[in-house]
Amino acid sequence: MIYTRMIGDIRVTNLIEYVGPTHDPAVTFPDFDPSVIERNRDWLTNAHWYENLQRMVIAIQIWIVHAGDKVILIDAGVGNQKRRGAARMNMLNSLVPQWLAAADASFDQVTHVVMTHLHGDHVGWNTVRDGARWVPAFPNARYLIPRTDFQYFQDLHEKNPEADPSFGDSVVPVIEAGLVDFVDDGDVVADCLRAVFAPGHTPGQMNYWLGSDREAAVFSADIFHHPLQITDPHLNTGFCVLPDVARQTRRAFLERVADTGTLIMPCHFGPPHCGFVRRKDGGFAFVPSEPDLPQRY
Ligand SMILES: [Zn+2]
Repeated sequence: MIYTRMIGDIRVTNLIEYVGPTHDPAVTFPDFDPSVIERNRDWLTNAHWYENLQRMVIAIQIWIVHAGDKVILIDAGVGNQKRRGAARMNMLNSLVPQWLAAADASFDQVTHVVMTHLHGDHVGWNTVRDGARWVPAFPNARYLIPRTDFQYFQDLHEKNPEADPSFGDSVVPVIEAGLVDFVDDGDVVADCLRAVFAPGHTPGQMNYWLGSDREAAVFSADIFHHPLQITDPHLNTGFCVLPDVARQTRRAFLERVADTGTLIMPCHFGPPHCGFVRRKDGGFAFVPSEPDLPQRY
């Protein structure tokens, strides 16, 4: 699916690489308590929870930003033909290249590929297969990588390249091609995105705040994998590298955006894949946002 909305004069599109009821909350969240589902079942519905399967809905999104003459991707999904440990990600053969072109973000059109962090489900389309090699998918783009995450994942890769092959097949080739610029806290990327350090899920994760004329919006990366982490912010995933820092970052983010009208654009929420945070009963609630442009893809 592909959805489009305007944020000020900036066009934002979210392309869903795949979505489905794939995640057992007891596996995803080490501190999961079934009462979390009991308390939230009425609003979770099939957008976020499949009761019969007892699975959370998780999406892989690639966000596309058209701002002036810039065509920007926020994160790069899983990618095709990549060997991955999880069956749902292994050796995909999706139509993402065609979907990107339909959304005016073909391989040749993209000017910036901006990464929030370097987990394998955020870097995959950096590269495509060319025979036995992996080559940059977006030859005209600068690839923007959080510097602290690069140092962390490069170190893991050098110690054991087989543990997670995504750095080798999806990050190293764009480095070797000379297409990478590193991002630090406070940098302005592609003239319209302000990088804000959001560590915890990974040591160098960044959020990117979108500048616009009238509304605030933020690409919130994996501060949340699922809206249950808005109502229950103590829930970390098992993939959060620095658990205590991840909780601090999540709570500070919720305090910052609640009741502000800021559109939250995460990577992994089920439909409609983004929304707002409001205060409720001393905590927080999720309010979904619908796309506002007719789709003609
Ligand atoms: Zn992720």
